[in-house]
Amino acid sequence: MRYLDPHIHCYSRVTDDYEAMYLAGVRAVIEPSFWLGQPRTYVGTFHDYFASILEFERSRAADFGITHRCTIGLNPKEANDERLADEVLEILPEYAQRHGVVAIGELGYDAITPAEEKAYVAQVELAQRLGLPVMVHTPHRDKRRGTLRSMDVLQDMGVDPATAIIDHSTEETTKDILDRGFWAGHTVYPQTKLTAERFANIHADFGIERVLLNSSADWGKADPLLVPKTCALLERRGVAREEIQKLVWDNPVAFFGAERLDLPDGGEAFNPATAGTTHSQIREELVKRPS
Ligand SMILES: [Zn+2]
Repeated sequence: MRYLDPHIHCYSRVTDDYEAMYLAGVRAVIEPSFWLGQPRTYVGTFHDYFASILEFERSRAADFGITHRCTIGLNPKEANDERLADEVLEILPEYAQRHGVVAIGELGYDAITPAEEKAYVAQVELAQRLGLPVMVHTPHRDKRRGTLRSMDVLQDMGVDPATAIIDHSTEETTKDILDRGFWAGHTVYPQTKLTAERFANIHADFGIERVLLNSSADWGKADPLLVPKTCALLERRGVAREEIQKLVWDNPVAFFGAERLDLPDGGEAFNPATAGTTHSQIREELVKRPS
């Protein structure tokens, strides 16, 4: 079994996590731009953050045999600092067109404020201009209302639902998301969001079509192995291995597109003996900067 975790914040994880993920079969990850916990106060910190997930994190993951791709966006929480948000929106196109960017995101609602909506709409327009899919974060409070509103906005803007992931879906929202033709992302967490058992129940009801599974592991209490662990539970419950393999590899590849992902044939070239010894440097051969 090989895994592509389509939502994980490697930036805030340690090298032990990369080692464990590789051993468990994780061969590719997508790191969405997100909130770092401490609110940022200058646009310059966004420049460095975007460069970091495009360059250093890609090198660090490759040192552990994992292909790293990312999404670029202004997260909903920080969209509420409107002065800063305007400045960040201005710099997004510069990063969103870099090699390795597979979507615009995560964007959407947190507290469902007008400022969040403004940044959401502006970024969906950017995605439409650049022909990129979108990764939509849904709020943890008032999830159903936020999810429905996120989809309403996309539909009003004429976004093809096949090009949008509505993420962090739960029992409350998966049916609506799939019924409207969007992709439903499911985040399994050790305690909050979904547990592996709850995801297995959702799977029993909805199968795998347009369904994605991710760990969203970040700086909170999370587990970067929850994609493989959840798949082990599905297998114990009698789900065919071929179906599980589709869920955790073919599905994300189909959504983001093989061309955009540009996964190296045969996996990321790395030497396990030196893994972790070279990550203090950006590996220039992996970083494709615009000329
Ligand atoms: Zn996230």
